[in-house]
Amino acid sequence: MTDFSNLIPKQEMERLSNLIRQWDHAYYVLDESSVSDFEYDQAVLRLRALEEEFPELKDPRSPTGEVSGYADVAFSEVRHNYPMQSLDNAFSKEELEAWFKRIGADLDRKRLVFELKIDGLAMSLTYRSGVLVRAATRGDGMVGEDVTANVMAIDAVPKVLANSDIQELEVRGEIYMPLSSFQRHNDAAIAKLSDYQGSAVDRPKVFANPRNAASGSLRVKDPSVTRDRGLAFFAYQIGNEPQDITDSHFESLQLLGRLGFSVNPNIRLIDDVDDIFSLLAEWEKNRHSLDYDIDGAVIKVDSFSERARMGSTSRAPRWAIAYKYPPEEKTTLLEDILVSIGKTGRATPFAKMTPVFVGGSEVAMATLHNEDQVRAKDLRVGDIVRLRKAGDVIPEVMGPVLAMRSEELVEWEFPKVCPECGSELRRDEGDAGHYCINYRCPAQAVARMVHFASRPALDIEGLGETIVKRLYDLGLVADVADIYRLDYDRLISLERFGEKSVKTLLQAIERSKTAPLNRFLVGLTIGHVGSVAADALASRFGSLEQLRAASVEEISEVEGIGPIIARSVVDFFAHDTTIDLLDRMLQSGVSPTVIERRESYSGALSGLTVVVTGGVEGFSRDGITQAIKDVGGKAATSVSAKTTFVVVGESPGASKLKKAQELSIRLVDGASFGRLLSGEISIDELEDNVL
Ligand code: NAD
Repeated sequence: MTDFSNLIPKQEMERLSNLIRQWDHAYYVLDESSVSDFEYDQAVLRLRALEEEFPELKDPRSPTGEVSGYADVAFSEVRHNYPMQSLDNAFSKEELEAWFKRIGADLDRKRLVFELKIDGLAMSLTYRSGVLVRAATRGDGMVGEDVTANVMAIDAVPKVLANSDIQELEVRGEIYMPLSSFQRHNDAAIAKLSDYQGSAVDRPKVFANPRNAASGSLRVKDPSVTRDRGLAFFAYQIGNEPQDITDSHFESLQLLGRLGFSVNPNIRLIDDVDDIFSLLAEWEKNRHSLDYDIDGAVIKVDSFSERARMGSTSRAPRWAIAYKYPPEEKTTLLEDILVSIGKTGRATPFAKMTPVFVGGSEVAMATLHNEDQVRAKDLRVGDIVRLRKAGDVIPEVMGPVLAMRSEELVEWEFPKVCPECGSELRRDEGDAGHYCINYRCPAQAVARMVHFASRPALDIEGLGETIVKRLYDLGLVADVADIYRLDYDRLISLERFGEKSVKTLLQAIERSKTAPLNRFLVGLTIGHVGSVAADALASRFGSLEQLRAASVEEISEVEGIGPIIARSVVDFFAHDTTIDLLDRMLQSGVSPTVIERRESYSGALSGLTVVVTGGVEGFSRDGITQAIKDVGGKAATSVSAKTTFVVVGESPGASKLKKAQELSIRLVDGASFGRLLSGEISIDELEDNVL
């Protein structure tokens, strides 16, 4: 997108400078990213390379020579006592080694400090006699914006220090938005937007990333807005480098900790540069275990006197370098927004994009969840979108690059009809989802069969999506009952079906005829009945006949089954299609295993194994374990195939989430789980956590 290499150098340099200035304005003043940080950095690197090659063409006001940033006129100006500089970057091991060489870090006694590079915005805090009197943003490095009133509203910033003897102290650090606050804010904004009627000025703001969210929440007129956004702060420097107290930056940070500042616990004093490489590798792998975004690490010379000897350029100190991690966010073209139809008929919009390598793999598609999410992000076909894939987690379209949107792009409308069968796509009031109303829709039929054969249901090995689709297209199966009519002669005559695979498939189908009742119920795709409700129903009624004969009242009496599920079960079994389906299955010899009938069902989580990751409001770590046990559940500490679901609380652990995704284990929203444990809702009402 920013490839101007066909231009003559002068033109290319001008274009790059202009673009970088535009992007800076959007980023520092409007709190919006026009491109990913990776693309921004690439453009700056390219401009720098051209300036080195053609120094005579360099604009004296080039953005490469300045601290990028602005003091916006909306705030009063603050002149910094010491410039707030930027940092030089290293993007590879070689660049870092070159910096070590430049500063002579291999010499004895040159100690370095390793710090995580928090992705927020730089803040200067001035204290007089231990009291916070001024807070300022970096601005252009010399002049920042006075944001004192707003910073006063951030709990994480100390207003009074533990020691009032220090006459004047300037502390610098990063204001950031924890990922948990970011998620909470955006979820609430998206929910409000679904039926928002108010003015454009007050329109709830969905932020593209926690950095923009931190900046956008701090640089507002109303401090109460800042207060509600849950911002946090890490101190990482004493502004005037207090050589009279200590010559060590590391020690000065400990002093800040004693004065009441939050200092990042992962800062390390380094004697051996090799340790830096292992720390960089460790944090690149573990960065998603943190409740805040980092975009790399900062390596600094520890000694203040050495720093003074080394000095700075106009833009950045020579004694520090930022090592940037490979990008997890890229931009790409949104080629189309399509809709996929699931087993219940749910129509889920997804983005089809020009493939791009991001976060370790190539991505061309990403779910957009539902209509409200697409609208909140205002995604339009033809947009350049920012795509993020953190670690191995699901790719997410963060939002459009508005600066690159061409005028003719139109707002996206949810399709009125199912792309698979042409029937109406309906959205009921109070529901975020659209549904294809045609039970016989081919996409639904195939998805139901695939689900029926999947591991949590009937576990028919060899009957995956490709085969089911083929059998459906050939007219051999139209619904799950037809699976039991498949025979050797028909299957063996099909292309690419060998004797061995046919026999294995038929054996798996045969075995499934006597699967336990709960798994059979899961496989039937009854509205609101997942594995938890299916277990409860099977335990209580014991046989398919008993369950089919039960009334809404009888089913509602089952612990953990609410009236909505009960109604859904009764309606399902009363439906002509189901009656016909079950008749044909029973005729084919399907006979779910009878489960020993249990009269009493001892608690909402009876027989279930739950893993909790992250905090759930109202419960301590031990408290939640006990609460799970109290309602009959088992609280496990690690995710395995035996886990029924994983509860995702505040600041969840990345490894547990990853494992749950690998094993396709349901993720449940932490707040709704808390309500279940408090007896406010039943297990059917647990909300899923869509990452
Ligand atoms: P920088 O963000 O790469 O580095 C300097 C900043 O790092 C400091 O000002 C401070 O805020 C922060 N920092 C975090 N942890 C720190 C620590 N432990 N010690 C010291 N500083 C720490 O450089 P910059 O000049 O502030 O901004 C340029 C960067 O901003 C670009 O590389 C890009 O990533 C981003 N940017 C993006 C866009 C865009 O459109 N996407 C536009 C402008 C800037």
